[in-house]
Amino acid sequence: LASPAIDAGRVIADLRELQRRTGDADGAQRLCWGAQWRVAREYLQELLDEIGLEATRDAAGNLWAFLEGEREPALAVGSHIDSVPNGGWLDGAYGVMAGLGLLRAWARSGRRSPRTLALVDFADEEGARFGRSLFGSSAVAGTLDVQEVQALTDAGGRSIVQVLAENGVELARVGEAAAGLEHIGAYLELHIEQGPVLAREGLQAAAVTGCAGVERLRFGFIGQAAHAGTTPMNVRHDAGLAAATAALEVERIPTAHGGVATTGELELQPGIATAVAGEAWLSVDLRHPDPAALELMLSGARRSCAEAATSRECRLEEIAIWRIEPIAFDPQLVELAAGAIANTTGTEKRITSGALHDAAELARVLPATMIFSPSIAGISHARAENTEDADLAVAIAAFGALASAVMMTE
Ligand SMILES: [Zn+2]
Repeated sequence: LASPAIDAGRVIADLRELQRRTGDADGAQRLCWGAQWRVAREYLQELLDEIGLEATRDAAGNLWAFLEGEREPALAVGSHIDSVPNGGWLDGAYGVMAGLGLLRAWARSGRRSPRTLALVDFADEEGARFGRSLFGSSAVAGTLDVQEVQALTDAGGRSIVQVLAENGVELARVGEAAAGLEHIGAYLELHIEQGPVLAREGLQAAAVTGCAGVERLRFGFIGQAAHAGTTPMNVRHDAGLAAATAALEVERIPTAHGGVATTGELELQPGIATAVAGEAWLSVDLRHPDPAALELMLSGARRSCAEAATSRECRLEEIAIWRIEPIAFDPQLVELAAGAIANTTGTEKRITSGALHDAAELARVLPATMIFSPSIAGISHARAENTEDADLAVAIAAFGALASAVMMTE
């Protein structure tokens, strides 16, 4: 007996209604733990009421809804309904509404799904308020360190502890959310690519093989601030030019090793037109799906910065900001996803995600994978974020086929 199909038209209509209720002329406004985010959650509950399901919230504020099937453990599907300020209508919400569409399809079929289905909306994936991304999913995966986040405040100076408490979440207890995994066997997430690769290749969907690892640092070039008029060129220790030289070298690292390298932030001191920069701080963000290659990128960046500093007689400092190892998705689930996409679109495509997703946290503890839809012009985290309805519909169909295939596997 064939699985019931997800009603893609309904999923897209739900997404538009969500945007109508929680967005404005500048885009999506579902900043986690805020009023519009709570409105989005209320809308989710309305949609669940329609199919007779009650949502529950775990200790980290993640929303779960279960549709009982023939067997456990459950197959979990979902993403995050929170957005960045002035965000796009699809980022996160797409996967939540498609997941809900899967539960709706089975609930209305009059048959029990081969496995129990769990819809999950992870809390605070974006980290747009307190700077800690993947909050809810890392709590579930057991990788959220409460000590590390308890001092965080938002732009208004409000503490994370207080804001979470207003949303019924006690920060000290978020680790208890991990217990919910006991009943989950695998996790699938549908998401937009948020980059230009699929759109450029004219593809409608791709299987995601994993998430790239990240090494993020700041390099400080310490030279000597000096008067722009009186200091001859040959006696300067120009920290700004050392950083600029290093940035151009870091840009070349992917030529040798693959991956992507970004120097998105450069701060000069004193930072005025009439002085040689005495200090320069350059951010370096390196990403690669392969751990060994990421390591080579990091040593290459260190070497480039050291050489640039030496050539201008500057001292070099290094501050680690953040790192995460590459996370590979479950090979068997990636195969099933690629197969579902090939059957639905006629083309097989695999891609590594350069962005992090809730699935990356889940993949530490469960078999997990994702399907990507193209993002028009690669734009995301912006009001202009969009995907053709036809492309959304095709990927929703592939996602439904993948869920069926996973439910059939032991
Ligand atoms: Zn997202």
